[in-house]
Amino acid sequence: METCISFVVGAVAFPRISLFFKRLRIGTSRWLLPEILTAVLVVGALAFAGNAGAADFEYSGDKGPAFWAEQDPTWEACAGTAEGFMQQSPIDISGVKINPKLHKLHLTLLDTPINLFNDGHVIENECEPGSTVQFGGVTYILAQFHFHTLSEHTVGGEYGLMELHAVFKDDLVNTTKIAVVGMIYKIGRANSFLQELIDAGLPEKSTSPHVYGNPINLADALMDTAAYYTYQGSLTTPPCSENVTWIVLKRQAQMSEEQFEAFRNILGNNFRPLQDRNGRSIEATAKGGSGEAHGHGNE
Ligand SMILES: [Zn+2]
Repeated sequence: METCISFVVGAVAFPRISLFFKRLRIGTSRWLLPEILTAVLVVGALAFAGNAGAADFEYSGDKGPAFWAEQDPTWEACAGTAEGFMQQSPIDISGVKINPKLHKLHLTLLDTPINLFNDGHVIENECEPGSTVQFGGVTYILAQFHFHTLSEHTVGGEYGLMELHAVFKDDLVNTTKIAVVGMIYKIGRANSFLQELIDAGLPEKSTSPHVYGNPINLADALMDTAAYYTYQGSLTTPPCSENVTWIVLKRQAQMSEEQFEAFRNILGNNFRPLQDRNGRSIEATAKGGSGEAHGHGNE
């Protein structure tokens, strides 16, 4: 959000700034005063943008999930049913309906260099464009993946310890639809994909520089992509837009206690509370069973 606002203001401000310097070089004093005023206004606008971005959200306290909708007028969907938004995420996955027409995910996943950053809410890896998932007749492009501790979705009322969200967009610039592939982690064997990220050095703070590293492939992270749940929901962070097709893998991944601690020590609690289901159906692949009784524990 902060980056977006700064970018927009920056894009608007930049031509004025360059014009300012051009006119300075001409040295015509009559230009100087208005342009200095403009420059002051631009700097002021940038400072204001910084503050607007700081009208931020948190996971507890007076900027916690219950108050997200109040932080920014464009975040009204976060209020959920209070404001008529009926498709918020995350939700508890239970009472699912098997849909035999749901097949193995059509994923094309390319290598992408480690490019980790901490936005103050999640640890996120920016992905080079090229990886896709086709779902419901739409081709979505992988933009990034990130992590929450604990899990955001629950299965049969049970939380996992961490959840990966791979965010795919129908268009990286003018996004109208999003598909998120979610996967829940539990404690078990060490996870080689997570270890690559940990070894690169997880960015500890929003002020930490980006961490760059060797190519990785999300395919190495994902468990069985032929067994999943799917439902219509929202972003789990502001602006909570209700344009997300959720695809949550039935099979949970494993990680060691140490790996969990590496993420948890940085992320703390960055999971949004469960939202009302409001009669939405959750469909599931036939593969992997209903998953409610055996969605966890299987390898
Ligand atoms: Zn997420």
